[in-house]
Amino acid sequence: MRTTVGIVGAGPAGLLLARLLHTAGIDSVVLESRDRAYVEQRQRAGILEQGTVDVLRAAGAGARMDREGLRHDGIELRWAGRRHRVDLPALTGGRSVTVYAQTEVCKDLIALQLEEGGPLLFGAEALAVEDAGTARPRIPFRHQGRADVLECDYVVGCDGFWGVSRKAVPAALSRTFERTYPFGWLGVLADVAPSHDELVYARHDRGFALLSMRSPSVSRLYLQVPAGTDAESWGDDEIWAELERRFATDDDWTLERGPITQKSVTPMRSFVHEPMRHGRLFLAGDAAHIVPPTGAKGLNLAVGDVVTFARALVHRRETGSADLLDAYARTCLGRVWQAERFSHDMTALLHRAPDATPFEDRLQLARLERIASSRAAEADLAEAYTGFPLD
Ligand SMILES: Cc1cc2nc3c(=O)[nH]c(=O)nc-3n(C[C@H](O)[C@H](O)[C@H](O)COP(=O)(O)OP(=O)(O)OC[C@H]3O[C@@H](n4cnc5c(N)ncnc54)[C@H](O)[C@@H]3O)c2cc1C
Repeated sequence: MRTTVGIVGAGPAGLLLARLLHTAGIDSVVLESRDRAYVEQRQRAGILEQGTVDVLRAAGAGARMDREGLRHDGIELRWAGRRHRVDLPALTGGRSVTVYAQTEVCKDLIALQLEEGGPLLFGAEALAVEDAGTARPRIPFRHQGRADVLECDYVVGCDGFWGVSRKAVPAALSRTFERTYPFGWLGVLADVAPSHDELVYARHDRGFALLSMRSPSVSRLYLQVPAGTDAESWGDDEIWAELERRFATDDDWTLERGPITQKSVTPMRSFVHEPMRHGRLFLAGDAAHIVPPTGAKGLNLAVGDVVTFARALVHRRETGSADLLDAYARTCLGRVWQAERFSHDMTALLHRAPDATPFEDRLQLARLERIASSRAAEADLAEAYTGFPLD
């Protein structure tokens, strides 16, 4: 098999890249190790930055998002019984975010790709990326029990943190930057209307909690739990009681309960691999970087990477210049490190470390007071939350 761009992985990064290349008239093949149902049902991110929304619309993948996505103009911070709303458009010159689940983004992009785009092979596991340093990189893969090879002009590794692409960068050239956190998020989906119409980020002495939503009738809720917690060790009533404690306010706000339909624990990690390019291999999304989900940046960063790659390849075709391809890693890493900083800061602001001292607790509260009382501090948060521009 031969193509211009071999894409490893059909998460949001790989699927959007295939769509962007298709609309630019560049052929690609996507290899995805899992089946379609698995990819479409994997619960993950849910907050789309303004820039991501704009890109999906421009790629012709925004119709259902525009119908069903929920535009949010604010988030609420909660601590010590207090509530403070951050008005996103007022602080950012009109920018907002959209709540539309990653599962739905993937479903929309898969449907478009199968209808109009190049091959998207499910159950096709890439075994390695070979000859990345040459003009003819290759991806040996296994599809429905048969061994095959995809020969390409370029390979984009969109295969997530556990994929094979990153391993093709020689160890002597690789550098990783990493932090693991001593806690994770217990996330639940519940069949109940969200108790607040915007996201609520709560800092509590017992740990962080987040109220989010998937639709007007489905709530997505998270609790900070110790690293390594088994989701099944938490009973449903216990989860609701703990959520109520952490979201408690001084006014008459209440949390509506409903049937919990799914629960899982997400570990928290910050990770960056440099460089994001080796020869004709480009790493994109979680294959190159991970952020803790507190800043809602993971999916949006993946979008930024593949937009940067697609623009660079189109530029190369139109002008013959490889300048933008050569600048790929530098361009992406600028945004990546800003997102790493923001995601780390939001995590530190809102979570309670197991060894936190009373001094650190007071600092957290002082930071929250600062955001509530200083327009500059609040605008800094709002600007990062709604996303850094893609150009
Ligand atoms: C449990 C969880 C919860 C999250 N929650 C949030 C959140 O609330 N907010 C947020 O912003 N972000 C969240 N994230 C992060 C966000 O979902 C990711 O940043 C996003 O999925 C990155 O997209 P991606 O396409 O780069 O990688 P992925 O979505 O990981 O996609 C990679 C794809 O590659 C495939 N693959 C792997 N290896 C191979 C191979 N050898 N051959 C072929 N295919 C392969 C995988 O099956 C997968 O489909 C969460 C992540 C996880 C794991």
